[in-house]
Amino acid sequence: MTATVHILVGAAITKKTSSPFLAFFLGILSHLILDLIPHKNLILSRKIAAYLICALDPILGFLILFVLKYPFNLTNLFGILGAISPDLFSVFQFTFRIKFFEPLYKFHHYLHWFENKKDLYDPTPSKINPWVGILPQIFISLISILWILNFDISL
Ligand SMILES: [Zn+2]
Repeated sequence: MTATVHILVGAAITKKTSSPFLAFFLGILSHLILDLIPHKNLILSRKIAAYLICALDPILGFLILFVLKYPFNLTNLFGILGAISPDLFSVFQFTFRIKFFEPLYKFHHYLHWFENKKDLYDPTPSKINPWVGILPQIFISLISILWILNFDISL
């Protein structure tokens, strides 16, 4: 999923959390569960333009949170960091390809079961139908925004 979706979900589920450790854990967990839902990812390539697009994605997520007047505090930031950490790690590993980290990278890679990629570092975008790949992300983002605005669930 895009970083924007992960940031919004991480922010929503940890809004009322009081422990940074729990927030970080919930953030990671949310990421791993969301990645199981068939989705279209941003293009992966080692070209500068691809990195720029990757950088704009989380900026959009934080912009939305600022507009929503999200209560940023250390715990929430840990939640958001947890929610995007698997992808931060994957961008790192995709770039540097360190053998030691490969099992972790593989685990994250195989969560994207719907892409059916044999090559771990295959940069081609998934062939998933754009409607199937994008609509759930919009839906999940909207639910997260509503959660941030209205819901009062404490974890
Ligand atoms: Zn991911």
